[in-house]
Amino acid sequence: MNASILITVDVDDDYANSSTKFMPLSWQSVELCKVISDSINSLACFATFFVRADQQIYNTFGDYAYMFYNHNSLWKYILSRGNEVAFHSHLIGKNSFARYVMQPVHEGLENIDRSLDAVFKSGFHITSSRLSGFPMNDELFTLINSYNITHDSSCFPGFQSQMQNCSTWPYRLTQPFKLNTLLGTQQQNLDIIEIPLLIDDIKAPYDDKPKPRYINLTYHTKYFMKAIHNCHRQLSNNWPKSTHYYNLIMHPDEVNSHVHPGKHELYSFSLKTVIANISQLLKFLESSYTSVKSETICKVIA
Ligand SMILES: [Zn+2]
Repeated sequence: MNASILITVDVDDDYANSSTKFMPLSWQSVELCKVISDSINSLACFATFFVRADQQIYNTFGDYAYMFYNHNSLWKYILSRGNEVAFHSHLIGKNSFARYVMQPVHEGLENIDRSLDAVFKSGFHITSSRLSGFPMNDELFTLINSYNITHDSSCFPGFQSQMQNCSTWPYRLTQPFKLNTLLGTQQQNLDIIEIPLLIDDIKAPYDDKPKPRYINLTYHTKYFMKAIHNCHRQLSNNWPKSTHYYNLIMHPDEVNSHVHPGKHELYSFSLKTVIANISQLLKFLESSYTSVKSETICKVIA
């Protein structure tokens, strides 16, 4: 059996356990992507950086692709080291009280359309996406497919509300799958591979009971490795013959100790922990599989 490690970095001012629902776009940690990228590459691994482009960015900075223009040389550097730069979108808009709320589907689609158009005009050739807070549906995938997006990594297995329009998706499906064989309501030939994030029921010391969480590279190593062991067991039981994909996430803010000066019981907020977690992950997977490789999202073949 083979294993594939997919390291993803959502470049936004997302946070760990922040109480602020829709981020104010403070962007304190974007430049940390360089050291994050270098550290990951030093372990012979690669990462996909999902960079935000959406209506909130437009409202705040005047351009949907602001992040691509404003940190242009950073993304070019990251790309030059064999990593991937991809599209990330928070589908939120202002309501009549000027507060950010989740967009209805038709506004979300317009948001994605304008954002992808701007990103392509900025000169970056994007083939992967991660769309936040949106029920997946045929229209959405038809739209991103029209921009030649071939890989999407938006799905959190276990978050049922996200899949309300995709009743054919197994509840806890964790392996990559071709959307054109599973979306049934339109007769179009989509050609997108969906690569769900890995989820485990994790119990932090402050939880009453375990919660489904995506596995974050900035968790303290004991929580991180426990989740990896659980996932390995489930993958081996459910998918004994196929390659196992370990699709993991982090945000630049989560390694910025200035943003998180206090101690946290689940998150370490340190790049040192991220490196230790990846090293332990490599060691464990190398002892459990015939071959282990790290690849970017756009390289996955379902
Ligand atoms: Zn995000």
